Amino acid sequence: MNNKVKPYDYLIVGAGLFGATFAHEMYKRDKKCLVIDKRNHIGGNIYCQNWDGINVHMYGAHIFHTNDEAIWKYVNAFTSFNRYTNSPLAMYNGRLYNLPFNMNTFQQLWGVTTPEAARAKIEQQVNAINIKRPRNLEEQALSLVGYDIYYSFIKEYTKKQWGKDARELPPEIIKRIPVRFTYDNNYFNDLYQGIPIGGYNRLSEGLLAEKEVRLNINYISNQIMLDDMAEKVVYTGMLDELFDYKLGKLEYRSLHFDHERLEVANYQGNAVVNYTEAHVPYTRIIEHKHFEFGNQNHTIITREYPVTFSNSKETEPYYPINDDKNNRLYKKYKELANGRTNLIIGGRLGDYRYYDMHQVIASALTVVKKEEMKW
Ligand code: FAD
Repeated sequence: MNNKVKPYDYLIVGAGLFGATFAHEMYKRDKKCLVIDKRNHIGGNIYCQNWDGINVHMYGAHIFHTNDEAIWKYVNAFTSFNRYTNSPLAMYNGRLYNLPFNMNTFQQLWGVTTPEAARAKIEQQVNAINIKRPRNLEEQALSLVGYDIYYSFIKEYTKKQWGKDARELPPEIIKRIPVRFTYDNNYFNDLYQGIPIGGYNRLSEGLLAEKEVRLNINYISNQIMLDDMAEKVVYTGMLDELFDYKLGKLEYRSLHFDHERLEVANYQGNAVVNYTEAHVPYTRIIEHKHFEFGNQNHTIITREYPVTFSNSKETEPYYPINDDKNNRLYKKYKELANGRTNLIIGGRLGDYRYYDMHQVIASALTVVKKEEMKW
């Protein structure tokens, strides 16, 4: 057994929001941390690159939103946020519709102008279909919002997103479809929302200021050497990879981002436009400057293509596929991880669940508190 004192209290694998929050909190508590990341930058998936004054969200559009005042105060201690409100649009059959589904959408779709008329339209369609016990996502959606909304905005978009027909997907994926009978295009119901002024790197840089960070280091291929450097390892990567896939592979959905610079000041007039039809291969076009009200003469757009994740190809594991099979497999990996007393698992990959940014910060703060109780 190796009894020598290790130079760090914590080796933190992953400089994303989870790892950065954990490192920041432990630093405050006088613990010695080393943060590593296999990428060549900090921030994980919230990382932005500045392209001639425009912050490009390199791993997909990120909008910070939360109802939790404590988390809002926490992030605002590192950077101020602007007043950006997410109001995406959906392109269907050459026309634009407001999202989330609200009175503006219903007016654009059916010409109705009152909540009563919109409600009646949906009820009439739901009753005509008369599905009592939905057996799949298609039936679930039809029973919630009727056929016009389903066929225009949900059916083909879902197939692009998940690579599967809505009839092959379980009904539980959509528990509810938010429908508003007010003229309100604000996508989120949360009290606080915005984009860090100057981009998300301000947040990651604030969290990791004065911390020891080493980039371009893959924990998996340097595990023996790295484990020797710290009393505990905080791992925010894929759990199946940590155990060399010995129980099988967890499934993820991935995305391909096609970034393009255009010499026009304003390409689509909105940060996010969804493309709901199957014949358009991408699901969204993001125009980054609108997140920060940019007034440059050029613009950067990103087309987002959902793709299958494969460990052998150049794809990133973005969305866990939380069906029964994968959840069962994850549980077995988690049991293996729990068997290692010096290992802490966290973040969206480690926990194999979709976290929004505010949730991953909250989760890191909880893990820090649990650690503290052991001292
Ligand atoms: P990550 O950001 O993935 O960080 C993990 C880090 O670990 C990575 O940098 C990775 O390189 C590193 N790593 C992994 N394995 C190893 C290894 N073996 N060795 C070394 N380093 C390793 N949230 C919102 O609140 N609002 C949004 O609008 C929003 N939009 C999103 C859009 C997309 C397309 C995606 C995918 C997510 C979105 N999110 C959004 C969620 C948000 O990205 C996450 O909550 C957050 O980034 C998760 O942080 P994390 O630290 O858990 O993971």
